[in-house]
Amino acid sequence: MNVYLDNNATTAVAPEVVEAMMPFFQERYGNASSMHRFGSSVAHDIHQSREKVAALIGADPSEIVFTGCGTESDITAIRGTLARLPDKRHIVTTKVEHPAVRTTCRWLRGQGYHLTELGVDHKGRLDLDELRAAITDETAIVSVMWANNETGVIFPIQEIAELCHSRGVVFHSDAVQAAGKLRIDMSKTPVDLLAMSGHKLHSPKGIGVLYIRRGTKIAPLLMGGHQERGRRAGTENVPYIVGLGRACELALEHRDEENTRVKALRDRLERELLTRSSSSIVNGDTENRLPNTTNISFEYVEGEAILLLMDQVGIAASTGSACASGSLEPSHVLRAIGVPFTCVHGSIRFSLSRYTTDEEIDYTIEQLPRVIERLREISPYSADSPVPTEIHAGS
Ligand code: PLP
Repeated sequence: MNVYLDNNATTAVAPEVVEAMMPFFQERYGNASSMHRFGSSVAHDIHQSREKVAALIGADPSEIVFTGCGTESDITAIRGTLARLPDKRHIVTTKVEHPAVRTTCRWLRGQGYHLTELGVDHKGRLDLDELRAAITDETAIVSVMWANNETGVIFPIQEIAELCHSRGVVFHSDAVQAAGKLRIDMSKTPVDLLAMSGHKLHSPKGIGVLYIRRGTKIAPLLMGGHQERGRRAGTENVPYIVGLGRACELALEHRDEENTRVKALRDRLERELLTRSSSSIVNGDTENRLPNTTNISFEYVEGEAILLLMDQVGIAASTGSACASGSLEPSHVLRAIGVPFTCVHGSIRFSLSRYTTDEEIDYTIEQLPRVIERLREISPYSADSPVPTEIHAGS
């Protein structure tokens, strides 16, 4: 059996999305900027897709800009805002952002910007008073993700947006993991800039969206032609734009019923794994969490080893303890939460989708405890022989 529980990494493209895209490769291949009918008919499809994306997040179609990926949307939001506000040199973000935001902000710090990275508590929650205190007259932008990709923890975006709004600071939210899974209504939530990515909601990789609230001024990252009303130059990726529109339509149609089903599957998986494997804990706030995500630490075992053995029995998930170039560097998200060393290296993220079945969850519940047991038998560490944390003080 093959079980894919890594949907926060990427999702399968929905068959309906593939079907919607196909005509735009070989029949309807016109350039939307062309004057002839090959072009104008395609421009109409792009417009329809813009309407579908806007409908998913309660936006106006004119506020939707198609980009090449979620990363591009995040970077355009942050750098595009700073370029428009040259006198403001302060950025506020969190310690748990995706590298698309984190690396950009840290690079900007290297360029002379002042950066505040807000911490989170043991459940991965932000302190709004800390955020309030961090904003100064120098602050150009606050960037806080809607939902965390590793733990699924959801931040209080409504409150944060209102706070930024009241202080006249531009607010950007990376909603790459939230869009399609959570209700987002930009007509009610005063977020100025919002990033989305197609491949997290069953459309292909390599297509993203930047929502730009009407009136928000940002400089484009890609300059050139007049596409996307000068906000993102480059000939439109029509098949992917059409695919994303269809994916948003499907997400809107299925979201509420699928969330209930997927959440029940996730909860069953989590409950059974915790019961069947001793010394296991859930990382992050279990109350305010994406319905499809659970991040579980299995103490005294390595995440990479768990993944390898899971892969042998056909189950795919991911670990927060990436083994990069020989040095074990645990996830910055789990470190920010303060997950103990004995747990952080054995953390596994399971992320489900609307294609996850009951049988797949049954199979995972049956297989995974065996994997953990096997690894614990050969682990040099246990509750009786504690891990020598001091030698890992740097991680
Ligand atoms: N932001 C978050 C929260 C993500 O999870 C991801 C992808 O994993 C990205 C941004 C980047 O999106 P993309 O892969 O489309 O560049």
